[in-house]
This record gives sequence, C-alpha cells and structure tokens, in this order.
Amino acid sequence: MPGLPVYIGLGSNLEDPSRQIRQALELLNELPQSRLCSLSRVYQSSPLGPENQPDYLNAVALISTSLPPEKLLTCLQSIEQRQHRVRTVHWGPRTIDLDILLFGNKQVHTDRLTIPHPQMYQRNFVLIPMFDINPDLTLPNGKPLRDLVNESDRKGLKPIGEPYEYLGNL
Ligand code: ATP
Ligand code: MG
Ligand code: MG
Repeated sequence: MPGLPVYIGLGSNLEDPSRQIRQALELLNELPQSRLCSLSRVYQSSPLGPENQPDYLNAVALISTSLPPEKLLTCLQSIEQRQHRVRTVHWGPRTIDLDILLFGNKQVHTDRLTIPHPQMYQRNFVLIPMFDINPDLTLPNGKPLRDLVNESDRKGLKPIGEPYEYLGNL
C-alpha cells in the first residue's frame, strides 16, 4: 500500500498502561488505508506537568498511511475515545494519548493540527523511542534525530519492554 511514513507517539498512565498500549496498537493496526510498520521499545517515564499522577508508559509506532493528516487525527481521537480517555486537567492522567509526531516531511498548521508535533524536540520520551525505530532519521527541520538524542537527558526514562512483547501477533 503506498503511503507516507507517520510516527505516532503513544502514552498512558491509567487503567493498566501496558494493556492500554497493546489495545491501541491493535486499533492502529486496523486503521483504514494504513499499515503498522514498527514499534519502539516501551519506556516508563516521569510525568510531564502535574507531578501528582502515576508514571507513564510511552512508545512510538511507525505506520504507513495514505489517509490525509486531518482524517488520521480523527481516527486517532476515536481510538482515544474507545479507550475511554477523559480530558480534565491539561497534561493530566489519561488512559491513552495518541499524538502525530511526523507525517512524512509535511508541515501542517491548522486549528486542530500542528505537525511536526511542536513539543517533540524537547521530549526524551518521544526522541529516544523514535531513535529505536530509525536512528538515521533526519527531521523536517534538517536536523539529524541522532544529534537531538545525543543532546537529550535520559532522566526519568527507563526502557521496560521490547516491541515483540507488545505487538503479539500483529
Ligand atoms: P501535548 O500535545 O502537549 O502532548 P496532549 O497530547 O495531552 O498534549 P491532547 O489533549 O491529546 O493534548 O490534545 C489536544 C489537542 O491537540 C487535540 O484536540 C488536537 O486537535 C491538537 N493537536 C494539535 N496537533 C496535534 C498533533 N500533532 N497530534 C495530535 N493532536 C494534535
Ligand atoms: Mg501528548
Ligand atoms: Mg494528544
């Protein structure tokens, strides 16, 4: 299936995060006009924002899709809803968060969507899993991912699972 490579960030810190990550991967695998290509290791990370919440599990998945960006966002939001995500506090605890990090080399700036994800360059729980998938990736701003990973701090981030443990038969 022809499509663009899209990196998706997954995060969960409620209701059995490993189960939430597995379920989200199953649903990503069923996206229309798309194929699930690979998964990073799964990391435990300290919460961003409010500190009085459980640690997170984070991972990055690579899909190939011919969906347009806005349509993919709608699909990801319906997966979040299927997994009973409730939005209360900004950066507060959640069953699952699915963020579009990169969409090929597209730059998107609409009311609903900013791609590349504006915070990704500062987040070790995004950069390091992306590096697991593609250590030779060059970001749309021309910067090698490797340089950002080398500059990034690993504080609060711990690999706790291998991709096969989460992908099962996918
Ligand atoms: P952050 O974006 O800092 O990681 P968050 O993931 O907790 O925070 P959400 O509550 O999941 O934020 O999303 C808020 C809004 O962000 C969504 O309604 C969506 O329209 C918008 N958004 C903008 N760019 C993106 C993107 N690249 N991926 C996903 N959502 C995005
Ligand atoms: Mg997010
Ligand atoms: Mg989000």
